[in-house]
Parts: sequence; structure tokens; C-alpha cells
Amino acid sequence: MVDFVGAGPGAPDLITVRGRQLIERADCIIYAGSLVNPQLLEYAKEGCQIHNSAEMHLEEIIAVMEQAESRGQNTVRLHTGDPSLYGAVREQMDELRKRKIPFRICPGVSSFCGAAAALEAEYTLPGVSQSVIITRAEGRTLVPEKEKLHRLAQHGATMILFLSGKMPEQVQEELLKGAYTKKTPCAVVYKATWEEEKVIRGTLGELCKLMQENGITRTALIVVGDVLGEDYELSRLYDKHFTTQYRTGVRTQP
Ligand code: SAH
Repeated sequence: MVDFVGAGPGAPDLITVRGRQLIERADCIIYAGSLVNPQLLEYAKEGCQIHNSAEMHLEEIIAVMEQAESRGQNTVRLHTGDPSLYGAVREQMDELRKRKIPFRICPGVSSFCGAAAALEAEYTLPGVSQSVIITRAEGRTLVPEKEKLHRLAQHGATMILFLSGKMPEQVQEELLKGAYTKKTPCAVVYKATWEEEKVIRGTLGELCKLMQENGITRTALIVVGDVLGEDYELSRLYDKHFTTQYRTGVRTQP
């Protein structure tokens, strides 16, 4: 059995209880060494085989899983954050399916959730934005034409950019072609939930400057949108006068 496990954003106690138990039981762990906190490996049992996938290609990763499976062992494939985002898990799952090796997925806390905590932010504020666009600047991995940043920027929704730390110029320029302005609040969260966490706030017009001044190029998320500003409307959910399935709204006397 292969378990794809989300390691969480960085702090070792932000892995799920299930994820930790799977690590404790594993005979073989393949972890994404570039981003997974190595402290999580301390939960592994003695004798557990540990591989760093940063130094491996797909065939090597699958070969390690296949070998463990042939010995009747449990493998944990430890991915940073949640495996479903930029995790390259689909190709691994498809190879396992071809080989009839069973697998399961244990979700994790994505770094964009860790960043919200660091920013003390709510990404979906009434009257401001009710959508979150998770995307990236185009680098060696191409982005479909319809998802180019300037096109996604037309919505003015809360936007979170992964894998874009080396391309702040591209991000700033493209987003300014959309509904955001130089004054739109923006933040960079470096190593969210790690001890080295750094939160930088400013406006979209200052994005490049802020990243350069702070020397941030990797392990960072760029968050853009008016949800980082001051104005919003109160929710209906907790509105005293609003009736929900669980609560009858208070009537105000005319
Ligand atoms: N599956 C992961 C994302 C992997 S892609 C998740 O759910 O978070 C790798 C990118 O994620 C990095 O380039 C960076 O943009 C972002 N990232 C991962 N961990 C981070 C952290 N702790 N703080 C800020 N950004 C992080």
C-alpha cells in the first residue's frame, strides 16, 4: 500500500493525526526534500527506509514504491502542503494504477491556508471577494492561454500565487493589466508556519521592490486582493436579523 500524505505547510505539528500515524507505520518514506520539514521524519520507526524525492525522477520514485510493495511493505509518499496542489501526484497514481499497486490519499493543510493564518486574513469577505484564484506565474511549466495572469486578473478576486517567487515582475505587470490597481493590497508570505516565517505587506505597485528588498525568491506565496484591505461587509451568517436553518433571526420592532 502506498499512502500519499500531505505534510502540511511546514510546522511539524500541522500534519494531520492520520498523516502522522501513517508515517509512524511506514516501512519506506519518499519525501519531497525541497519543502517538507525534515523534523517529520523523526516520527518514522527505526529501520524505515527514507528517500528524498528531490534527487529522484518519476521512474526511480515508482521503482522504490514497487520494490517496497513486492516486499509487502507500507510506503508513505510525503508531499508538502496538500498533495492536490502542484504535487505531481497524478502521474504517480497513474503509474501505480498500471501496476495494480493500491494507494490512498491523506490530505494536508496547504501552504495557502498556512499563509492565511500568518496574515490573519479571511480570503472570502462579503462585499469584497467570494472567490479564491489559486495559480502561478508561467515559468518552465507552461500555463494554458485562458489562464494567463492578465486574464485571471480580470476578476479582481483574491489571488494566491504559488511557485512565482522568482517572477515578481511578471506577476506585478500582468496583474495590473486586470482589475487590480497599484494600490491593491498584496502580501508575500515566506515559509508560512516555519520558524523562519516572514510576512511582508504592501501594495501591488510595490510587489517587486518588497520582494527584492527582502531577498525573497522561493518558498513564498504572493497574496493579492482587497480582502487584505480594511473594508468589507458583515456576514449574513452571524447577522442578528438573519434566519438560518439553525437559528431564528431577531425581529427589530418598527
Ligand atoms: N502542495 C503544496 C504546494 C507545492 S508547490 C501546498 O499545498 O502548499 C511549492 C510552492 O508552494 C512553493 O514554491 C511556494 O510557492 C509554496 N509553498 C509551499 N510551502 C510554503 C510555505 N510554508 N510558505 C509559503 N509558500 C509555500
